[in-house]
Amino acid sequence: MNDAVDPQSVPGTSAPSGFKARARHVLQHLDAVLPNVDALYADLHEHPELSGHEARTAAEVAWRLEAEGYEVSRNVGGHGVVGLLRNGDGPTVLLRGDMDALPVEEKTGLPYASRVRTKEGEPVMHACGHDVHTACLVGTAAVLARSRDAWRGTLMVVGQPSEETLTGAKAMLDAGLYARFGTPDAVLGQHTSPLPVGMFMHREGVAMMGSAHVRLRLFGRGAHGAQPQLSVDPVVLGASVVMRLQTIVSRALSPLEPAVVTVGQFQAGTRANVIPDEAVLELTVRTEDDAVQARVLAAIERIAKGEAAAAGAPKPPQVEVLNRGPVTRNDPALVGRVRDAHAEWFGHAALVPGVLGTASEDFALFAQGPEHPVPIAYWFMGVTPPKAWEAARGATLLEKVANVPGPHSGHYAPDRAGSLRTGCESLTVAALACLQGGSAPMDH
Ligand SMILES: [Zn+2]
Ligand SMILES: [Zn+2]
Repeated sequence: MNDAVDPQSVPGTSAPSGFKARARHVLQHLDAVLPNVDALYADLHEHPELSGHEARTAAEVAWRLEAEGYEVSRNVGGHGVVGLLRNGDGPTVLLRGDMDALPVEEKTGLPYASRVRTKEGEPVMHACGHDVHTACLVGTAAVLARSRDAWRGTLMVVGQPSEETLTGAKAMLDAGLYARFGTPDAVLGQHTSPLPVGMFMHREGVAMMGSAHVRLRLFGRGAHGAQPQLSVDPVVLGASVVMRLQTIVSRALSPLEPAVVTVGQFQAGTRANVIPDEAVLELTVRTEDDAVQARVLAAIERIAKGEAAAAGAPKPPQVEVLNRGPVTRNDPALVGRVRDAHAEWFGHAALVPGVLGTASEDFALFAQGPEHPVPIAYWFMGVTPPKAWEAARGATLLEKVANVPGPHSGHYAPDRAGSLRTGCESLTVAALACLQGGSAPMDH
């Protein structure tokens, strides 16, 4: 049985009473758990796996959850792992950690740096901190399993594959995550960020933008490079399209509608003296709102068609949306509850005001319950080591954040001990803020 988390029952401005004592009672187990978390982290960091290939990582997560008494299901939507711990009547709380790595070459020089390459020779690195997320997920699952007298409810611990391709959450939901294991009352997730280690950032409403990946195929007519009059040059057409696309954000949207249109790929031609037949552009679009995304996509299509017509292209361009990431919209009451719990545990000085993230996540899909929307809360945890933070240029927090290595950089090197400890603490106290209190006397 699930008692729904009632956002009204706990005012958004204060944590539940006795909360800190309860958190302390649970986190007294953390020192015993941390060596395992640290070993798992170093192991995952050294052995990263690309999206869709997380077999080893999933196996490491699965046996550790089993060892702590979780009922574990493997291969839920690819390499997805689900661990259930039923501990009496109370809400069901889903804790999510993503497990995949990126095709990035590691340049941290750390003793546990990845030297992994795929069969095709592509470098692989945990450059997005998903190894931190996974290790902290397992650590949190362990401390909560060892303190069952302090809470009631059901924990659903989810190791998610394929976040970077924005396909893993959908695959797990399509594989019947909620039908098989129950619809949670709250879904919690955290992501590493270049903030200093020990700091946290929460944002009510939209935490991260939605994304769309678009491919434009522009058709021209090839010719000898010395005879342009015989061609419809797709390179020049593509260049006009790239320039004209810059007017979408600046001219077609209101200054109050944040959006990004980036052309990350432009491929055309093989030789200097040959005008090719076509050009292919790949774009990423980021918006805070699905309706704005629809307008941006319509504008891209209009510009591509208009420029192709102006160039006298032999046929209209092909416009394809290859994939979409949803807007991450935090439930205001739930994220407020998490923030209050973090303020109580870490102190208000550890929290920074929320800034809208332009990256995208498939975490948002967990909000799509079969019958009703599920409240989700996603926050950022700082991982930059104190020394790197001190050395970073900049006067303000945001300037310094821009000058330390961040996610997707080959130099991204989270503070190992600090990130793992604070990451376990943040996920644990967030879970506790959603679960029901237990029977343990809180006299610590
Ligand atoms: Zn990433
Ligand atoms: Zn990530």
